[in-house]
Amino acid sequence: MYIVMLGAPGTGKGTIGKILSNDLNLVHVSTGDIFREQIAKGTKLGKKIQSYIDTGALVPDDVTIETVKSRLLEDDVKDGAILDGFPRTAAQAEALKGFLKENKPNAKRVAVELDVPDDEIIKRVVNRLICTNKSCGAIYNKETKPPKEEGICDICGSELKKRKDDNVETVTKRLEIYHQNSKELIDFYKKNNALYSIYPKELDVAVANIKNFLDEYRRK
Ligand code: ADP
Ligand code: ZN
Repeated sequence: MYIVMLGAPGTGKGTIGKILSNDLNLVHVSTGDIFREQIAKGTKLGKKIQSYIDTGALVPDDVTIETVKSRLLEDDVKDGAILDGFPRTAAQAEALKGFLKENKPNAKRVAVELDVPDDEIIKRVVNRLICTNKSCGAIYNKETKPPKEEGICDICGSELKKRKDDNVETVTKRLEIYHQNSKELIDFYKKNNALYSIYPKELDVAVANIKNFLDEYRRK
């Protein structure tokens, strides 16, 4: 099963995507993580995309689509994956549809939309802290979910950092871009796939509801 996580930045796609990934034993593929890794490594791709990411603009569709296609041809995602942060435009959604049709004709495809009011999103994102240990990647919030010891991950003891693009200006821009594309994207998934929308107020409840939906869908 390929699960597409839709939702503005800061709605919890990463957090919920990782929980689902563990519980359902599906690899979590995040385009944001892939791009940040390329930037950190200083690869050719990383250099090409850095300025987009830093200012909150979208990486161009052709680059993004190629990156995801080659990731989805790897062995660990041959039976399914959780896609977090992709697709973000109608062109990306079309490309994914074509790719899956061609390469995974029997795979089930489903979309989950996380819908959170913008003012709450801004509060979440500007206070967000992320564990620098890539294999952990735990996410904290200075206000609502602080770590026990300041700047240190409760789970693995690594340093916590703010993402460079998690400031009011950049998140406002990311939200604006999200809203420009979201109607078309959501309509696309309503038409082409099963779509489940939820306001993830409490994490546990949201995860349980999403899992119920996925369970029912899987049995269909
Ligand atoms: P968030 O959802 O919090 O904005 P992500 O980690 O998903 O964070 O993405 C960070 C940045 O990476 C985006 O602002 C954008 O520049 C780039 N990016 C990620 N996914 C895509 C995509 N599907 N298409 C274009 N750009 C993307
Ligand atoms: Zn950690």
